[in-house]
Amino acid sequence: MQKLKNYINGELVEPQLGQYIDNVEPATGQIYSQIPDSTVEDLEQAVAAAENAQPAWAALSLEKRAEILTKVADAIDGHSNELAKAEAIDNGKPFSLAKNVDIYRASANIRFFAQAITQFSSESHAMGNEAINYTLRDPIGIVGCISPWNLPLYLFTWKIAPALAAGNTVIAKPSEVTPMTAYLFTKICNEAGLPPGVLNILHGTGPSIGNPLTTHPKIKAISFTGGTSTGAHISRVTAGMFKKLSLELGGKNPTLVFADCDFEETVENVVRAAFANQGQICLCGSRIYIERPIYDKFKAAFVGKVKALKIGDPLEPSTQHGALVSKPHMDKVLSYIELAQDEGGTILTGGKQVTMKGRCRDGFFVEPTVIEGLDNNCRTNQEEIFGPVCTIMPFDSDEEAIELANGTQYGLASSVWTNDLKRAHRVAKEIEAGIVWINCWLLRDLRTPFGGVKSSGVGREGGLEALRFFTEPKNVCIKY
Ligand code: NAD
Repeated sequence: MQKLKNYINGELVEPQLGQYIDNVEPATGQIYSQIPDSTVEDLEQAVAAAENAQPAWAALSLEKRAEILTKVADAIDGHSNELAKAEAIDNGKPFSLAKNVDIYRASANIRFFAQAITQFSSESHAMGNEAINYTLRDPIGIVGCISPWNLPLYLFTWKIAPALAAGNTVIAKPSEVTPMTAYLFTKICNEAGLPPGVLNILHGTGPSIGNPLTTHPKIKAISFTGGTSTGAHISRVTAGMFKKLSLELGGKNPTLVFADCDFEETVENVVRAAFANQGQICLCGSRIYIERPIYDKFKAAFVGKVKALKIGDPLEPSTQHGALVSKPHMDKVLSYIELAQDEGGTILTGGKQVTMKGRCRDGFFVEPTVIEGLDNNCRTNQEEIFGPVCTIMPFDSDEEAIELANGTQYGLASSVWTNDLKRAHRVAKEIEAGIVWINCWLLRDLRTPFGGVKSSGVGREGGLEALRFFTEPKNVCIKY
């Protein structure tokens, strides 16, 4: 059985205590590799490597750092089939999605920040004839990056790219549920000539290595993406340490469909927004509000398209809907489907685990599920399910749509489908979310601020926001 290794000081090393945890392929339910269950001993080794490498990495010219990172992006492109297959096996997502979204974006993330750092400028403030201020933006030092399982290499690179571009050295922890592409990425980094110690990757669980990483006194900033309760825990345990924190957390995103939308295009995209990656994207629209005059027509078309999604082996090219990431996650999703029925919901399609034939007979497959008849305040509509489950509800006015959309503790993303320009702007202004898509979903420009409000997080990633997060500003004031 393949044993993954940690990546410290440019080398693949075993965990010092020799402990491993199993890694399961979601489509088959079988253990197919093991990953280090790293501990503080490994962390100390990684911190020493990162500390040692940091001055030289920060001292490299921006062009040189950008050149090395661009080589890393090129190497991802060169290995994209291998990485996409590994991601599909490790996560359960369709190979086509892994190739065209996950791995494509992993390389785009690194290329983007390699270029962005060469364009990054700092502020200057003139005080009339008296003085001038300029702001230095230096690397922070060693930073920690912790990422989740739903978009493994995509979100891993989304964090480490700006951190490295800004001149920091990084200790990164991918999710223990999907460690494989971060492991393969280490070979890519070496192939591309990333200096040893600049990036260190430790595998393992939240308690065994995530927690020590967030509380290590030499790690001055933490960029975290994951669940809201984990984010709250990290806030609590680091509260007295005055670290910089970026927290990208859970969502329960609304989709607002108005009667004047482009009907066919909207149905198509609302299906994608609800069920892409089996509904396991923090940006998925799982609460779908439809203006009453088109409710029945939309419901029929929407349910028809959801029924037609092809569930299958993630490695089959025709598969549109793969496996959920793990047995515990599948059980959680199924328990919410049960809860929805207890709360009075009617299942319009889906609702069950799927037993496949052949290779995938023990896999974690759940039908794409659409539920109607629920109140906005019930648990099904308030808690993040993070799976292939959405609810549909009618509304009668713009005001009601906004109130329903804003009626949860979350505020990550939203999408609005209308041809009324004034309404689009007004609703976008009123929605409590970090991201509003009008007549589109998951259309991403990497320069834009990315993140959520309320329980969906603190801070923004993307573009200059990320470079500002990963640098420490120092103002210098000079009197004339
Ligand atoms: P999770 O919070 O369980 O785990 C995320 C990462 O944190 C993993 O690497 C995990 O090992 C680590 N971790 C767990 N406990 C920790 C601790 N005490 N200290 C430090 N690290 C710890 O989340 P998950 O189940 O992997 O991911 C799903 C969640 O992520 C969903 O809530 C989803 O909405 C959210 N998410 C948010 C975004 C966003 O951009 N806002 C993007 C993707 C996923």
